[in-house]
Amino acid sequence: MNLKPGVSGKPPYDDQNVFARILRGEIPCRTVFEDAFALAFHDINPQAPHHVLVIPKGRYVAFADFAANASEAEIAGFIRAVGHVARLLGFEDSGYRLLANMGPDSHQEVPHLHVHIFAGRPLGPMLAG
Ligand code: AMP
Repeated sequence: MNLKPGVSGKPPYDDQNVFARILRGEIPCRTVFEDAFALAFHDINPQAPHHVLVIPKGRYVAFADFAANASEAEIAGFIRAVGHVARLLGFEDSGYRLLANMGPDSHQEVPHLHVHIFAGRPLGPMLAG
């Protein structure tokens, strides 16, 4: 069992995290959708037939940081992007799962807020154990 603790999930924001580098174009990604507020791309290590990550463009470590410090436009833009991607990829009929890891107990690995979208097969129980 992997008990490796995740990142703290709290500020300060690390500008060298992999998603910051993707946003700056320093690392490639397979883009699904992009607008002024969000970027969506395929996860490099998919856990389901469809596994897409949606990230806000601002420097936010996790949900509490985002909720406290992002503008209303950024919050609306990010939430709209998540829904837009689910619709764009045709997940509404068969269903999909959103998941966001925050901090050590969740095993968050990348300290930039991101929502996972899983789809493409029955996704099993809500938590593995
Ligand atoms: P989390 O554990 O919620 O922080 O998830 C981080 C996710 O980022 C994992 O599912 C990784 O497979 C994914 N990931 C890490 N590096 C990359 C990358 N360069 N491009 C796409 N996905 C990545």
